[in-house]
Amino acid sequence: TQFTDFGLAQPVLRALEEAGYQTPTPIQTQALPPAMAGRDLCGIAQTGTGKTAAFALPILHRLALSDRRAPRRGCRVLVLSPTRELANQIADSFADYGRHLPFTSTVVFGGVTIGRQERALAPGVDILVATPGRLIDLVDRRALTLEGVEILVLDEADQMLDLGFIHALKRIVRMLPAKRQSLFFSATMPKNIAGLAEQYLSDPVQVAV
Ligand code: AMP
Repeated sequence: TQFTDFGLAQPVLRALEEAGYQTPTPIQTQALPPAMAGRDLCGIAQTGTGKTAAFALPILHRLALSDRRAPRRGCRVLVLSPTRELANQIADSFADYGRHLPFTSTVVFGGVTIGRQERALAPGVDILVATPGRLIDLVDRRALTLEGVEILVLDEADQMLDLGFIHALKRIVRMLPAKRQSLFFSATMPKNIAGLAEQYLSDPVQVAV
């Protein structure tokens, strides 16, 4: 399988070519077709397997096919990450693979002043990458609304729970539209994570590497 076999939008393919990627990794081969078709996904994959592109590429593809706009103070894609480092990496990947597309993206995390993040969100962004605590703070300050979210990504769900984000996560998911696409990734799938997946995903495709 090559990246050219999936029917990805041209601007996404072009970015992949420029990155020198030809062959998808196993998680990408499994995840791309269902995620591009709008299905929910439950993926067991570690860092280093190419899991970021496994969700970023289909998301960019779907945005490229739609002509909706980000709502004011809102976002269309919400990616939750347990740590600031991972959030930055994910945002960099979206910027890389999305370099030929017009989408805006922002990354928000705690430990830095919130004002700049509030201003960045004011006009709305297509893709928001966030750690759960800061996201809640922004919602509580009315700097952000989640009612327009079309796609949710939960990355490193096991880490998210280990770091004590379960309550924040539950609050966030309660604010999302029920009709959405959800992509769920975790390195491990213990009972509590499987339970969350069951609750948050709708008829998910299971992928594992
Ligand atoms: P991740 O597992 O998402 O952290 O990705 C691990 C690394 O592999 C990142 O540096 C990516 O840029 C790179 N990568 C992801 N997919 C591919 C691919 N299909 N071909 C070559 N490198 C890739």
